[in-house]
Amino acid sequence: MKASIIGSGLGGLLTAAKLSKAGFEVDVFERLPFIGGRFANLPYKGFQLSTGALHMIPHGSRGPLAQMLSEVGANVKIIDSKPMAMIRKENDEIIDFGDFRNELPITKKVKLGTILAYSLKFKPESNISFRDWTLKYFDDDFLLRLADSFCGWALSLRAKDVPAREVLETIGNMYRYKGSGVPVGGCGAVTGALADIIRSNGGRLHTRSHVDRIIIEKEKAVGVSVNGKEKYADLVISNSGHAQTCKLYDCKDKDYLEKIKAVRPSKGIKICVSADEPLIGHSGVYFTPYTERINGINEVTHSDPNLAPAGKHLVMSHQAVISDDIRREIDLGLSDLKRMFPHKKYEILLVQSYSNGWPVNRAASGKDIGNRTPVSDLYIVGDGAKGKGGIEVEGVSLGVRNVVREIGIA
Ligand SMILES: Cc1cc2nc3c(=O)[nH]c(=O)nc-3n(C[C@H](O)[C@H](O)[C@H](O)COP(=O)(O)OP(=O)(O)OC[C@H]3O[C@@H](n4cnc5c(N)ncnc54)[C@H](O)[C@@H]3O)c2cc1C
Repeated sequence: MKASIIGSGLGGLLTAAKLSKAGFEVDVFERLPFIGGRFANLPYKGFQLSTGALHMIPHGSRGPLAQMLSEVGANVKIIDSKPMAMIRKENDEIIDFGDFRNELPITKKVKLGTILAYSLKFKPESNISFRDWTLKYFDDDFLLRLADSFCGWALSLRAKDVPAREVLETIGNMYRYKGSGVPVGGCGAVTGALADIIRSNGGRLHTRSHVDRIIIEKEKAVGVSVNGKEKYADLVISNSGHAQTCKLYDCKDKDYLEKIKAVRPSKGIKICVSADEPLIGHSGVYFTPYTERINGINEVTHSDPNLAPAGKHLVMSHQAVISDDIRREIDLGLSDLKRMFPHKKYEILLVQSYSNGWPVNRAASGKDIGNRTPVSDLYIVGDGAKGKGGIEVEGVSLGVRNVVREIGIA
């Protein structure tokens, strides 16, 4: 069996690794000169910055991605973050994420325990947002800010823009798999290891290879046209999301096209900072509920010092984009850093903004429409088709798991 894969992002490479390991003849076509999509390293002044991700794997060495990497034999070491996360309070005091309930009056603390336990089991059926869900039970400024900080960091959305059931599913996964980790070598080490596996299984990776059309015969995908040349296959997997994939063939399914219209990408801004001294001092997430824009910060050099030149730290902040004025959004993020670290010496290395065709998530969490398309033997993988409750690359892995199951391999 022959599979053509459009795009070498994490979803494309994971699928290619699984299929090539199962004996498929695999070709991955990538339009860019490098592989990895938004999960690739970007070397800069001796730092390993990235094309997208903050070098973090949301559920660390026990999550869905780690499981899949191990199944395909990819040689990646993931260092679990300790502590998992800290929270910066309004008075600048730092508390452990696990202790956030202690910030609440005793009645709210007890209520939160009960409501959370119940809601994790019986997720709200309605489309109530996470903000409204929080407000419904607790009119509490700290909790509302924490909800925004968490959703901004993990999903690049505000709590008002995510269905409560999706966030609760994500929290359930946090309890199941525990907290985040950093792959040694950064995100490029993950996609690089997958590329090695694909090649060692006889698969082929073609860069500068733009897929301009998906060939459909009798409502079945039978191949792709790459830089104008037709390549036939039994199966086509697209890593470019539903909307982009649709443009590669003459999709006429009205219901599907309507569903796609409702899918919005999530936007974000990442600020990469070099610091001589640690700014946050640990490898976990630093939630910042009392800033103007920044939702959280990490300092990955506590897990892998080689992500920065000797003696330096690589610090990255992330913020969801709130308005269309990107310049102002960036300025507010930069001011947040100044306010949080007034006496620390640091240098801004790079500010990256993500939207439209190169977003934080192709389908904002809770808006995914699954991995199938109206065409048989054409599937979508990547963060435009994540599995339920899967944050970022964990969701990408859950989606790939769904696809390989449908194809008939475990
Ligand atoms: C600022 C930021 C921070 C993030 N931080 C984290 C984090 O710390 N942890 C985490 O888990 N996730 C994080 N993410 C999200 C994560 O990076 C993405 O979810 C993930 O990398 C998406 O992978 P994908 O499989 O969707 O592929 P993509 O990265 O979207 O790659 C798709 C590839 O397909 C190629 N392609 C598209 N169309 C064609 C075509 N027609 N022909 C050939 N090639 C084509 C593209 O060039 C691209 O290389 C972050 C994202 C951003 C932007």
